[in-house]
Amino acid sequence: MLETPKFPVLAWAENSTDRHMMQLALEQAERAGKRQEVPIGAVLVHEGRVLAQAGNAPIHSTDPTGHAEINAIRQACAQLNNYRLSGACLYVTLEPCIMCLGAILHARVGRVVTGAHDSRFNQSLKHTVSLVAHSPAWHACQFETGCMAEESKKLLTDFFAHKRTQQKAYRQSATPPNKQEPV
Ligand SMILES: [Zn+2]
Repeated sequence: MLETPKFPVLAWAENSTDRHMMQLALEQAERAGKRQEVPIGAVLVHEGRVLAQAGNAPIHSTDPTGHAEINAIRQACAQLNNYRLSGACLYVTLEPCIMCLGAILHARVGRVVTGAHDSRFNQSLKHTVSLVAHSPAWHACQFETGCMAEESKKLLTDFFAHKRTQQKAYRQSATPPNKQEPV
């Protein structure tokens, strides 16, 4: 695995401020789940102030870029009236995908704290980050993984288990056309 000092991926260390911010992100994730979106939430903090809180919303926004991280970045940029968020910290309940990593680096977020590991679209965050390791334009960003990972993961596993139960019930309730009684 390619290591890069510009984008260190570290294990999160217990910290009550981070825990509080991740709790806000988890609330956003939960709200997203209630809207039938995959439950992922993000919070953006700039100079100690919560600038944005957002959930995953690609279905309702009919926008494949409507991931929680990008929604939070958009809200925060609008708040600051600035397309860069230098020195900001992003909290997200699941390790970001390659699209969101690009948005994070374009926005110049300086620190990212993540919850659950490995989304279905990625391998590990170290792998995702290694894809941009040799691009000289990016500013440094530190990643810390595993903040309230169990809580984040539980939201996701419960959501998908519920979906599977719903799909199974739907399949069982549908009458197959070839099961009609012969006349
Ligand atoms: Zn994403």
